[in-house]
Amino acid sequence: MPARGPVTDGVPLSTSIETRPRLPFLSSTSGGGNKGVVDPRPELRRNDRVAATTEICRGPRLEIPDGSPTRRPPAADPGRSPLFWPSDHLGRPRSGAGSRAASEVTGRAVRGRAPGGSGVSGCLPELKGARPTGAEPPNEPGNDYPSLEPPDGVSHDLTLEEQDLASAARRFVQREVAPLAERMDRDDYFPRELFRKMGEEGFLGPTVPEQYGGLGLSYRAQAVILEEIARESPALALSVGAHSNLAVDNLARNGTDDQRAEFLPPLVRGERIAALALTEPNAGSDAVSLSTRAERNGDHYILNGSKQFITNGPVADTLLVYAKTRPGDGAHGISVLLISREMEGFTVSRSLDKMGMRGSPTGELAFRNVRVPLDRRVGEENRGVGILMGGLNVERAVLAAIPVGILGACLDRSIQYAREREQFGEKIGRFELIQEKIANLYMDLEASRRLLYGALECVATDPRRLRDSSAALTFASEASTRGALQAIQIHGGYGYMRDLPLERLARDAKLLEIGAGTSEIRRLIIARELLGPGFGR
Ligand SMILES: Cc1cc2nc3c(=O)[nH]c(=O)nc-3n(C[C@H](O)[C@H](O)[C@H](O)COP(=O)(O)OP(=O)(O)OC[C@H]3O[C@@H](n4cnc5c(N)ncnc54)[C@H](O)[C@@H]3O)c2cc1C
Repeated sequence: MPARGPVTDGVPLSTSIETRPRLPFLSSTSGGGNKGVVDPRPELRRNDRVAATTEICRGPRLEIPDGSPTRRPPAADPGRSPLFWPSDHLGRPRSGAGSRAASEVTGRAVRGRAPGGSGVSGCLPELKGARPTGAEPPNEPGNDYPSLEPPDGVSHDLTLEEQDLASAARRFVQREVAPLAERMDRDDYFPRELFRKMGEEGFLGPTVPEQYGGLGLSYRAQAVILEEIARESPALALSVGAHSNLAVDNLARNGTDDQRAEFLPPLVRGERIAALALTEPNAGSDAVSLSTRAERNGDHYILNGSKQFITNGPVADTLLVYAKTRPGDGAHGISVLLISREMEGFTVSRSLDKMGMRGSPTGELAFRNVRVPLDRRVGEENRGVGILMGGLNVERAVLAAIPVGILGACLDRSIQYAREREQFGEKIGRFELIQEKIANLYMDLEASRRLLYGALECVATDPRRLRDSSAALTFASEASTRGALQAIQIHGGYGYMRDLPLERLARDAKLLEIGAGTSEIRRLIIARELLGPGFGR
């Protein structure tokens, strides 16, 4: 392996918002005052800039004749389709258009924001210049669509800080990720340079304490970032999730102060990329039946074995590797070791070619007599199963944000297409069979989102409870596979073409039913926890 220079650093999870320095992602925000916004969490308001960003996120409030507060629709962007609204189905502004649009409200009293496209001029297929019959945007004003925002106070409402983060992530994704998403899939291209950029924005260490360069925020913040990335590129979201949750957050929770100080900062800055290596060729669902061995030899372990299907494996600089340190002791003989790419004896045996999630590198790794200093062990010797189970629990909760992002993208595109596409002289959105699909997509999205935020709460407050994260990822992943296929159906032949991202989203979605433990294993976890002792095998 080529030498990459010395690594540097990482710490414990303290999260006093008041003492936190200004978040890097706020540096790119701008806006006016905070008039008319009811702040549900006044303690979170740290400066006018935050409040201004929040104003932009939510849009100004408006009293409509029946007295219920709603929000004005942002003005359509000049030069774009009248159907283009710089907001998604939840009324959140898209890309950079949000701030300008919010300050240029028309004042026309309508019942909330219209759902919008994904930052492009509508979601009409662009098939070599062809435009499907009847797909021209309507020229009537007709934008008085009902608000699809969740009601104030629902449990998954984002805090102001989380809204800022979502807004910043969305701008970043539109600017940096969207243009690369198709190439990542087509060429299996991993955009390494994006990691540095995401590091600069603070997206790679949302849960890492500030003293190690992170934001010191909760798993909700991590989910917010992943959802935004997944709307354009689930593959990038997977790589970011493997880096910042499976590895970086894991190390922040379980590493020593020295390990955190040495390893976390360059990972949070995106200078180095991380991976977590558990799965082996013969140890998948039965994860604790590892064959990889780490034998003590003086002040080192000698590591031998191989790992399979490791996200970021082919590009990773820092890896958390699970190995048996007491082979005869099953789950009780596992330890976790911190491996650097530079270590002699570590090789990437193969980069794997996948059905979906292309551009997120997956690899087979080999360890041949790798000398690992004892102080590179994370946690106690032979007690790694606790780190493994706890890590998988958090991983399942956080990664459920990826299918939520996929569902959001599918719903936005489907609503917009159903409003624009005409057949039999009518918008296809008027056909009940299309309406049913849109309703199903909406229900799946909302149910997935509620399970996601419930699970994020649970892993933070009661880490021993496993069923919520398993339920969230299982439901959301299956819903996103189903939802992406339904979105393709709504788009007809255009949906089947690679010019639109829907078939890519369907291929990507399938992975979430397999990674982080399969749907079958997650169902076993749920049922056995509910049934209680005596029902496992
Ligand atoms: C793209 C990708 C990225 C991944 N990234 C990582 C990573 O970063 N790090 C990592 O360590 N691993 C990673 N994995 C591995 C992933 O976690 C495993 O693939 C998964 O746990 C399943 O293991 P397996 O593939 O060996 O399937 P198996 O365990 O061989 O399962 C085969 C089938 O049998 C079913 N099955 C197995 N046991 C039971 C049972 N008791 N009851 C009922 N059905 C059962 C399974 O559900 C499945 O349908 C990744 C996998 C993929 C595809």
